Amino acid sequence: MKCNRIAVLGANGQVGRALVDVLGNRATALTRAQADLSQPATLTAVLDEIAPDAVINAAAYTAVDKAEVEDEAAHTVNAEAPAILAQWCKQHDVPFIHYSTDYVFDGSGNTPWQESDAVAPCNIYGKTKLAGEQAIASSGGKFFIFRTSWVYDAQGANFLNTMLRLGAEREALNIVSDQIGAPSYAPHLAEYTVKVLDAATQMQKFPSGIYHMVNQGEVSWHGFANAIFEAARSHGETLIIKTVEPIPSSAYPTPAQRPLNSRLSCQALQHVFGITMPSWQEGLTQAMEQKYHASNHMPA
Ligand code: NDP
Repeated sequence: MKCNRIAVLGANGQVGRALVDVLGNRATALTRAQADLSQPATLTAVLDEIAPDAVINAAAYTAVDKAEVEDEAAHTVNAEAPAILAQWCKQHDVPFIHYSTDYVFDGSGNTPWQESDAVAPCNIYGKTKLAGEQAIASSGGKFFIFRTSWVYDAQGANFLNTMLRLGAEREALNIVSDQIGAPSYAPHLAEYTVKVLDAATQMQKFPSGIYHMVNQGEVSWHGFANAIFEAARSHGETLIIKTVEPIPSSAYPTPAQRPLNSRLSCQALQHVFGITMPSWQEGLTQAMEQKYHASNHMPA
C-alpha cells in the first residue's frame, strides 16, 4: 500500500518544495510556521493532528558557517527535532525519511564513501547532522536517511544562482578546485525519494537504513562553475565572465572547514532498489531549462 498522507517538513526549502511538487495531493506541506524544529517538544502535537502515514523531514539548519557559532541552535534542529520525529514514527509504525550530508565524513582519500565507512565530521554542522542520523537509527522504527551533497535547484540561494549573479557582474573569479563531489538537483532527490519510499512499502520487510543519494559523476566547484556558465550562455544569458581561475581551499578560508573528498557511492541504492540517479550534468540541464523556461514565460 502506497503512503498517501505524507507530512513534509521544511516545505519551503529546496528539497521540501520539490517533494511537495512530486507528491501533489499525497503531501501535507509543513513550513517553519507550522512545524518549527527549533521547538522539538511541539512537533508531536503537529503530527498527532495530521496523522500522516509517512513523514519526510526536509527541514534542517543548513547555514554551515553560522553553525560554527550557533552550535546549540543547529543541534536542536538537526539532531533533537529529528529524534522526536523518528520516535513519533516508530510509535505509529510509519516510515520516517530524513536527509543527511557528505559532511559526516572527514573528506580524506579520493574514492567514493560507502555508507558503512567511518564517520568523522570536520565541522559543527556535520557533527549535528551525524547526531541526527544516530538518533534516528536508534529509534527502532522504519527509516531512511539519504545522505546527499551540494544541493541546488533553479531558484534557491545556492551555488548555481551565486555563479549566475557573479558571472554577470565580474570578468574574473577564483573558484575552489580541490573539493570534489556531486552537485545534486533537488527535484531529482525528491523524485527518487518518492520512488524509493513507494518501492519500500511494497517490500516484505522495510529496508531501513542509511543510503547515499546524489546525482552520478563527480566534479569540483571550479568545474561546476564552468559548466554553469557554459549552460547559461547556451540559453542566451549575457555574462561578462572571462576567466575562472582554479584555487585550492586554503586560498578561500571559511569559518567551517569543508571536506575535500565529498564523493558518495550510491551502490546501496542500486543494489537494494535497482535505482541509478541521473548524472549531475542532467541535473544541471534540467535546472537551466526550469530557470530559463520559467522566465521566458513571465508575463510582459
Ligand atoms: P534548504 O536550506 O534549502 O532548506 C532548509 C529548510 O529548512 C528551509 O525551508 C528552512 O525554513 C527549514 N528550516 C530551517 N530551520 C527550521 C526550523 N527551525 N523549523 C522548521 N523549518 C526549518 O535545505 P535543502 O533543501 O538544500 O536541504 C535538505 C536536506 O538536505 C537537509 O537535511 C540538509 O541538511 C541536507 N543537505 C543539504 C545540502 C545542501 O547543499 N543544501 C548538502 C547535503 C545535505 P525557511 O524556509 O523558513 O528558512
